[in-house]
Amino acid sequence: MVEALILVAAAVLAAGIYSLLARRRRETDAARAYLQGFRYILSDEPDAALEQLTRAVEVDARTLETYFALGALFRRTGEHERAVRLHQNMLLKTDLAPRLRLQIELELALDFQRAGMLERAAEIYERVTETEPGWREALLRLRQVYEEQRNFARAAETQARLVERCDGTRAILAHLLAEAALAEEDSGLAARFAERAASVDAESGHASFALGMVRLGQGRAKEAVAALKRCCELEPELAPRAAEPLVEAAGAGRAVSFFNSRLSAADHPATRVALARCLRHAGRVEEATAQLRRALDLDPRYVEARLTLGRALLGSSMGDEARRELERLLAAFSTQESGFACRTCGHGYGELQFRCTRCLNWDTVRRVAAAAPEER
Ligand SMILES: [Zn+2]
Repeated sequence: MVEALILVAAAVLAAGIYSLLARRRRETDAARAYLQGFRYILSDEPDAALEQLTRAVEVDARTLETYFALGALFRRTGEHERAVRLHQNMLLKTDLAPRLRLQIELELALDFQRAGMLERAAEIYERVTETEPGWREALLRLRQVYEEQRNFARAAETQARLVERCDGTRAILAHLLAEAALAEEDSGLAARFAERAASVDAESGHASFALGMVRLGQGRAKEAVAALKRCCELEPELAPRAAEPLVEAAGAGRAVSFFNSRLSAADHPATRVALARCLRHAGRVEEATAQLRRALDLDPRYVEARLTLGRALLGSSMGDEARRELERLLAAFSTQESGFACRTCGHGYGELQFRCTRCLNWDTVRRVAAAAPEER
């Protein structure tokens, strides 16, 4: 009896030791391949490194970060093909935990996104967010892919999911719906986008602008006027863009009095440019020129004001003056002056943008040239 017990105990012990040794050998092999892989990276042989790193190594939570760092390094140096291969090799492993697999897929999608293969990136992000509907990072990147494709309807859908499940803002949703409305050719569909934009964010100037443009296209002038006026109140920088549609919907005279009343509330160079455009439509060219000069006094780097002034003068009989203005215009462009800049990445723009095309953030581009007139 005792002998049998000893035998069983010995067998259990032997099995334990065997499995421990086997595991250690596996881990040692893995560690060796891993180290060899990094030796290749250090000696600048990325293809050999890729081979080693993905050959026998087990991918688990401990080694994952190192792989991702390597993938990010490949992407940063523009070697997207290598990044793709690294992540595809990792996905070939059959023993991956589901969560790890999703994380690797997210990296692979980012490789495609950075390589400009947006369709493939979107496909993976869509699949990943079907499995994990509340995954903020995946949804955010999916939205950015759709924005890059200028598919604003899909981007808006994605932002709606971010609002519902994560911390996505209604302000960005309104921007995307407004863009979708402005890009949509079907007037009924455009109207639905614009109405939804205005309802998700009542304070969005962009949404109000889109609604005004859509109503104008539908021939509903009265509603167009109301929306365009509201857009100038919510976002004074949009006034130059709203000026001509407002003239079309309300007539030049009423547009002039609207912008005059805006100016008596607050002096703003964009409001003066808008007023100048309406004055020109009313045939009051000299007054228009005076308004543009005043806008440039308020903000000498206001490219849109200078352009409008240059065009107005070229169209007039003031030959010498037009030439001087054109010279100044060219000088402004040669120094690449830009009156607007992104607060996040510093990228400069000649006019207001809702989304920075460099860092992809929304609502970060602001006028930088001069202090706001009211603050002077
Ligand atoms: Zn930026």
